Amino acid sequence: MLTLSRNSILAIRCARLARRHLSSRASTILSALDILSSKEQPGVYDGEWKGTGEIFESICPTTGEVLARIHSAEPQELHEALDKTREAFISFRTVPAPQRGEILRQIREALAAKVFHLGALVSLEMGKIRTEGVGEVQEFVDICDYAVGLSRMMNGRVVASERPGHSILEVPNPLGVVAVLSAFNFPIAVYGWNLALSLAAGNATLWKPSPSTPLCSIAITKIISRVLERNGIPGAVAGLMTGGKDVGAAVVESQNVDLVSFTGSEAVGRVVGKRVQTRFGKVLLELGGNNASIIMPDADLSLAVPAVFFGAVGTAGQRCTSTRRLYLHRTIAPDFLSRLQKLYASVRAGDPLEDSTLLGPLHTQAAISIYSDAIKHLQDTDAEILIGGKRYDDAPLKNGNFVQPTIAIPKILDPKNQIWSTETFAPILNAAVFDDIDQAIEWNNAVPQGLSSSLWTRDLKNVGKWIGPAGSDAGIVNVNVGTSGAEIGAAFGGNKSTGWGRESGGDAWKQYVRWSACTINFSDKAPLAQGVNFPT
Ligand code: NAD
Repeated sequence: MLTLSRNSILAIRCARLARRHLSSRASTILSALDILSSKEQPGVYDGEWKGTGEIFESICPTTGEVLARIHSAEPQELHEALDKTREAFISFRTVPAPQRGEILRQIREALAAKVFHLGALVSLEMGKIRTEGVGEVQEFVDICDYAVGLSRMMNGRVVASERPGHSILEVPNPLGVVAVLSAFNFPIAVYGWNLALSLAAGNATLWKPSPSTPLCSIAITKIISRVLERNGIPGAVAGLMTGGKDVGAAVVESQNVDLVSFTGSEAVGRVVGKRVQTRFGKVLLELGGNNASIIMPDADLSLAVPAVFFGAVGTAGQRCTSTRRLYLHRTIAPDFLSRLQKLYASVRAGDPLEDSTLLGPLHTQAAISIYSDAIKHLQDTDAEILIGGKRYDDAPLKNGNFVQPTIAIPKILDPKNQIWSTETFAPILNAAVFDDIDQAIEWNNAVPQGLSSSLWTRDLKNVGKWIGPAGSDAGIVNVNVGTSGAEIGAAFGGNKSTGWGRESGGDAWKQYVRWSACTINFSDKAPLAQGVNFPT
C-alpha cells in the first residue's frame, strides 16, 4: 500500500488549494482587504511576513467553506519575533506620547476607511451578523479616538513631601512588551482595546489571536503595519503571531513579555494567570461571563423584552456579556415570557452577511455539541423547554453551525447547579421566577462569574440597592440597559472568576505603564523620612 509522507500530503493539499475557487461571497470580502485566498497565508508578522510552522484553516461557520490556510510560527520564528518585539519597544519608548497619538490617529483613519469590509470579514469568519461585525470594528475606531486624546493626558502626579526641599513624583513610563491573547468571539475589538492603550503608552504589542479567526488578525495587522511603515516605526511595534495553544503557552511563558492581556475562557485563564504570576509578570484577565437580567414588576416591558432578546440571541449567544439567566418577578413572568417567545419565534436565522438575518451560526462544530449537551442536561433534569432546543436541519442552514435560540425553565433552582453556574457559550436562556428583589440579587451574585448584570425597574429604591454595597457584584451593573453592548468610555471587565481585569476606558490605561515613585531632593540637606536619625 502506498504511504505518503507528511510533506507529500502537504504538497497535495497545496495543489488542491491552488485549484480551488472560493465562493464570490468570500472572495469579494477577502480581496477588498488584500488577502489572497488562493495561496497559503503567512500568519506571523514582526516587521516582515513569515511563518513556516503548523497550518491552520479558517473555516466559514455559515457554509463550512475553507476560507484560507495559514502558516503559524516555528518555535525559532516565535523566539525571533519576541526578540524583535523587544527591540521595537526599545526604540519606540522614546517617541513622545503625542507623536504616538498621531500614529494612532492615522491607524484610526485607515481602519475607518475599511470599516465595512472589516465588519463583513468578521461576519464571514466568526459568524456574527453584519451590523454587529461593523459595530465591533467601530469599537476599534472609537478606542483609537480615545487613545489619541489619552496620549496627551497620561499624567502622573506630584505628591507633597514631608521633607523640606523635596518633591515626590509618580511617573508613568512605557512598560515594555504587551502580549494580547484573544478569543474568537471578538476577533478585532479585543485587540483594538489593548493595542490602542498599549501603543499610546509607548509599548510594543504582540498579538496571538484565536486560531479560528486568523484572517481578521491578518487583515488588521496589514492595515496597521502600513501606517507604521509610513511613519518609520518598526513593524514589530504591532506584531502578529497566529497559532494555537502551544504558541499561546510559549508567549505566556516568555520572560520577554511584561504584560499578558488574556481574553478567553475561565479554564484557560486560570492556567495563564498562574503561569504569568509564577514568573512575576503582569497579567490582565478577561474571562467568561454568566450574566443575569432581573425584571421587576414596574419594569417597562416594551424596553425590557427586546433588550433581553438581543442580549440572549445577539451574536448567537456568543458574547461574554450575553444574557444567560433571566429572573422574572412573579407578577410579570407570564406576560414577559409570552412576549419574549413571540420574538424568538420570529427570529430570522441565515447568512450573517444578509441584512435581514438576526441569527448567525455558532462559530465551530464543537460549539454545537456544547449546545446539545446543555439542552440534554436541561431535559434530563425536567426543565421545560419553552422554545428552541435543536439544530436547524434544513438546507441551507444545515451546512453551517446553526442552532435554535432556546428559552428553558429549569426545575432546579439551586444557583450552584451547573445549569446556572456555568457559562454555556450558546443561545440558551434559563429563566426563573422570584418574589422579592433580595432573592433576585442573591441569585445574581451566587455564580462564580461576575461580568455583566442588568436590572429593569423605574423604582429608585431598587436602583440604589442594585448599585450599592448589597447590590450586584458584577463589573458591569446596568439599569434599564441589557447585559451586552458596552461603550468604550468606561473600563470594561468583570470580577470573581471573570478575572478582575479592566480594559478599554476609565483607568484601564494605568495597567499598560510602569509606575515609578521618584523622590527628588533639591535642598542642601539629606534628611531621612519619618525623622529617622542616623548620624555619621
Ligand atoms: P479560549 O480560552 O478557548 O481561547 C482564548 C485564547 O487562548 C485563544 O487565543 C487560544 O488559542 C489561547 N489558548 C488556549 N490554550 C492556551 C494555553 N494553554 N496557553 C495560552 N493560550 C492558550 O476562549 P475562546 O473559546 O476563544 O473564547 C470564548 C471565551 O472567551 C468565553 O468564555 C468568553 O466569555 C470569553 N470572553 C471574555 C471576554 C471578556 O472581556 N471578559 C471577552 C470575549 C470573550
